[in-house]
Formats: sequence, structure tokens, C-alpha cells
Amino acid sequence: MRSGVWRFRELVLQATDEEIVTHPEGNTPLLSRSAVANYAGVEELLLKHEGHNPTGSFKDRGMTVAITQALRVGARAVACASTGNTSSSLSAYAAQAGIPAYVFVPEGQVSRGKLAQTLAYGARMIRVKGDFDECLRVARDVSARLGVYLVNSLNPFRIEGQKTIVFELLQQLDWNTPDVIALPAGNLGNTSAFGKALVEAHALGLIDRIPRLLAVQAQGASPFAQGFAEHFSRRVHVQAETRATAIRIGNPASWDRAVRAIRDTNGTVVAVSDEEILEAKRVIDRCGVGCEPASAASVAGVRKLMRSGEVDGSERFVAVLTGHVLKDPDAGDTPDDATPALSAEAALHLVARDLER
Ligand SMILES: *Cc1c(COP(=O)(O)O)cnc(C)c1O
Repeated sequence: MRSGVWRFRELVLQATDEEIVTHPEGNTPLLSRSAVANYAGVEELLLKHEGHNPTGSFKDRGMTVAITQALRVGARAVACASTGNTSSSLSAYAAQAGIPAYVFVPEGQVSRGKLAQTLAYGARMIRVKGDFDECLRVARDVSARLGVYLVNSLNPFRIEGQKTIVFELLQQLDWNTPDVIALPAGNLGNTSAFGKALVEAHALGLIDRIPRLLAVQAQGASPFAQGFAEHFSRRVHVQAETRATAIRIGNPASWDRAVRAIRDTNGTVVAVSDEEILEAKRVIDRCGVGCEPASAASVAGVRKLMRSGEVDGSERFVAVLTGHVLKDPDAGDTPDDATPALSAEAALHLVARDLER
């Protein structure tokens, strides 16, 4: 099967070809860009670009499995709470499966690209007063009371699909494990999936040692980083605020599983500021790769870890870029609408002058 998720079917879900709802998805590139490695201050840094999935984020890897399972259990409808990418993905896969989808999004907090996608694929979008955490409460309520199948990352089938990011990148490295795998961390579903995948790959003998996970949070939405600093002695909630909307989550749902993932991988958790995230994004964008703000947190996190002296830079790093650059068109440089448009002649002159410099 051409899907980068169902290729690993035995480790994901035993479903038949007829049952599977696949775009296909996965098979994303592992990129090497020296500008990004130099920026992070390390010798080797590869970028696993999950923005190359059909709806532009890694969420498709979990959604193909969750929607397949929804059909298997005869769900009448599916629902999720989302900061945008889960809703885009749900909307596309539900459309393909021919099943109604409801998405709950925090009012005024979802980027334009994600809203446009969700609506285009035809999900019913319901804007909720409050933040993501409030949306998740609504989604859980709708699921419990109305029997709608919930596909947030609390849904174990999504986690199973997301494990294939790790399997695929290890295979791309011919099963030579990197030393550190960095990823942005919000609701912590992906952190949980990565930990589970690494433990399973090791138990199966596919890899001979387990790389360290580096979960990276935005400073303004960093309950997990705070928890890590306190040796996870309590569960931390915060009021979340960051430009990286995909990880703007104050009360992560997969906390316990993510704690296990960090412990199982001897992992670490750091927080980076929005300035650090947007600076890293600029470096990633300017070498022609591009990503959405939350994704750049992984690279910013590697840089931060390097500067802390906790690693020495000779380690081999993989940073996961979780979403596509078009997801959040307002985050990068925007066209300068303030200066007037030029005539054809003036435009020619401008380029000529520019080239002379
Ligand atoms: C969902 C998402 C994240 C965060 O993943 P969690 O599983 O919620 O921790 C990070 N980046 C992007 C682009 C996402 O869509």
C-alpha cells in the first residue's frame, strides 16, 4: 500500500484493505539543510517534514486510522476540538469516508489557512467562546451524550497512526537511530505517540537503542515544561498564550502518556519564546523549506538545548516540522500594502537598481 501509515499496518491497526480510508498519507521527506543545522549550532540536523501530508500536517497520520476505526464501529458522525489542523484533517477524511463531521474551534484563535481548509472539505464548524481546553470539554460532552465518535488525540487510534512518523524516519535512516528527536508539544498526543513508537521499535529489535525525545513548548503555553522542571510531581495547568496557535494549549490531554514517553526515552522538555520560534521559522522559511510557527519550535528547541550545554553538538538530531508554511499565512512576512503599486516601467527600474547593489 502506498500509504506511509498503512505500510506499518501490523504495528498500527489490523484493518483490511476494504476497511481502510486512506488518501494516502505519510511518506514525507527527511531533509538536510545546512543553514538550519548551523542556526541550531549542531553538526547534523535532519528535518522530517510532516507538512507534506495531504492536508498539510501530521494529523493526517492519526486521522486515517481514526476514521477507518470510526467506520468499523459504525459511528453515525465524528467530532473533534481543534486548534485548526485536526479539524482540517478530520474534515478531509470524513468527506472521503462520507460521514458527517463536527469540529469545535476556539473563537478567533485559528489561523486563516486552517479555517479555509476545514470549511472547504465540508465539516460543520462550530466556534466556541473560550480556548482550546473549553472546546475539548464541549467535544467530550457531545461524544458522551450524543454518541458521536470523538477523534481527538485522546482517541488511541490516532496515536497508533502517529507512531509511523517515527517508524518512517527510522527507516529513512536505515534504522541507524539519531541521538535526539525534537518535536513541538501542545496537547502531547504526538509526544506520547513518539515514545510508544520508540519503545516498540526497540522491543522488536528494529533499533538497538532508544533516542532521547526533546519535547518543545512555547513559553506562554508550557505546562509540560514546568512539570518536567518539577520532576512531574504534579499536573500543571496554565492559561495559554502564544503565536504558535497549534501548541496553544494550557491543559494537555495526554499528560500521563507523555510523562511516560519522556521517562522511557530519557527525554527532556524545554520552552522557547515566541521570538525564538519566529526566528527559527524565518531560517527554515528562507532556505526554501518553510513551516508553520508551531513547527519551528522543534528547531528553536534544539538550539536552546545546545546553548544550555546539555548536549555537545556532535549528536545527530532530527527535528520534526509538523505543519505546512501556508497554514498560517499571517505569521511570516506579509506583503507591504502600505507602499503604492508600481507601473511596469518603474518595476523594471527597481529591479535594475536592486541588481546593481
Ligand atoms: C497538533 C500540532 C502540534 C502539537 O501536537 P500535540 O500532539 O498536540 O502535542 C504541533 N504542531 C502542529 C503543526 C500541529 O498541528
